[in-house]
Amino acid sequence: MADAAALNEALRLLRDCVPEERVISRKDILESYARDETPDISGVPDILVFPVSTREVSQIAKICSRLRVPLIPRGKGTGVAGGALALCGGMMISFERMNKIIEIDRENLAAVVEPGAVTREIDQAAKQFGLMYPPDPSSLDSCSIGGNVAVGAGGPRAVKYGTTRDYVIGLECVLANGDIITLGGKYVKNATGYGLIPLLVGSEGTLALITKIILRLIPRPACVIDMLVPFEDIGSALRSVEHITAAKIVPAAMEFMEEDALRLVTEYLGAKMPFPAARAHLLIELDGLTEEEVLRQAGNIVSVLKLNENDIVVAQTEQEKERVWRARRSIREAIARKSPVFLAEDTVVPRADVRRFLLKLKSEFSSRNLVSLMFGHAGDGNVHVDVLKGDMPLDEWRAMLPELKTAIYRIAAECGGTISGEHGIGFLKKDHLPIVMDEYTLQLMRKIKQAFDPLGILNPGKVV
Ligand SMILES: Cc1cc2nc3c(=O)[nH]c(=O)nc-3n(C[C@H](O)[C@H](O)[C@H](O)COP(=O)(O)OP(=O)(O)OC[C@H]3O[C@@H](n4cnc5c(N)ncnc54)[C@H](O)[C@@H]3O)c2cc1C
Repeated sequence: MADAAALNEALRLLRDCVPEERVISRKDILESYARDETPDISGVPDILVFPVSTREVSQIAKICSRLRVPLIPRGKGTGVAGGALALCGGMMISFERMNKIIEIDRENLAAVVEPGAVTREIDQAAKQFGLMYPPDPSSLDSCSIGGNVAVGAGGPRAVKYGTTRDYVIGLECVLANGDIITLGGKYVKNATGYGLIPLLVGSEGTLALITKIILRLIPRPACVIDMLVPFEDIGSALRSVEHITAAKIVPAAMEFMEEDALRLVTEYLGAKMPFPAARAHLLIELDGLTEEEVLRQAGNIVSVLKLNENDIVVAQTEQEKERVWRARRSIREAIARKSPVFLAEDTVVPRADVRRFLLKLKSEFSSRNLVSLMFGHAGDGNVHVDVLKGDMPLDEWRAMLPELKTAIYRIAAECGGTISGEHGIGFLKKDHLPIVMDEYTLQLMRKIKQAFDPLGILNPGKVV
């Protein structure tokens, strides 16, 4: 817990550099920042501050560093690894008000943004100039780019375009002691010294506070279509993914949902889904610079998978696309409605091992009588496995979780994968890192943390 005298002094000093209305110590407001989207875990900050400039962020860090007060960065609080929670109190620094899209640079195909900008808005701003910011976490309407950079977020389009990590070309950051550093710029090649940008992307607020981001943009594909393909079981859906990959067709996205996930989301949306009898769905997005190119890819998929064109849905208008994506995008809300307490995992395995991984997991869950739902990014091996608490007593659920998580992560490791593909380690997976990382690597990570943040004030208790 943060020291009470240090917190009082921090509050006093803060009011000298940040206007009073942006420094919060009211209990009810602090409590509304006690949670993110991680089920069943919370922590109330002692102080909440909303900076609007890098200078203010630097002053805040200097105060925390001088008084050894924990400083917890927060974007929009949609994280699911408990990364943006003040689990031991301290000062929370919210980037919500540093949310400007500063520039879309058409000549350099780059965007300059503040960390609190909402991800969808950046892509929409780029769209006006025929450009695209490809990373598309399913939460893109509500999460911030700072949070995306901090966790290295991905999304369905990762299969073709990669993740946030592949688009960050410049950063401005404030270090734990308040120093301001700038890295990279509006250039796409950079071989200048150690790669600190890739190190900071995915550092989950434990190494530095991100105050400005330069993103690479790409020309926007002129034509996008979605295909919804039903299957009689998840095995055939995933075999089809293997066939598409082997045929060297690279869709923009390839998402799967298995039977239990489909049933739950249909129940939640109350809408009739296409192919209600199907026991698995594959949602394939194809894009390209011309309609001809995209239709050719669609034709290739139809012939590689030996599909009957009447048995699939092809969505070309915005309305049709919204309909086919709705189920996939609503799945998290459907789960939360059914069982507010659930385990949400985002393991990743080599693409060719997804099928083996899922079968092993299903048999593990049924041996424990647990209800599980599987869905995710079949094209890049990032499988979301959600296990519902249902009506199990909370104490029993909590007692069982560490062992269940260990079992899931061991199976992922056995299948050649790892324990997070896009949500990060945060607080939730910290204790499980040794399953996939040897002690030398962990020591190296701890030394990196020590070099950036010798007093350990930045987002303590997260990652390592
Ligand atoms: C319905 C739903 C769907 C989702 N779908 C996806 C998905 O498809 N792909 C995916 O990757 N994730 C997904 N997520 C998880 C979440 O949206 C992402 O992790 C997102 O990147 C978090 O952004 P945020 O702004 O909410 O960050 P927060 O949750 O506020 O913070 C996340 C982490 O970033 C740190 N942080 C935030 N801002 C800064 C900053 N400026 N400087 C330093 N550190 C900072 C925090 O300390 C914390 O460790 C989903 C979540 C939900 C609820």
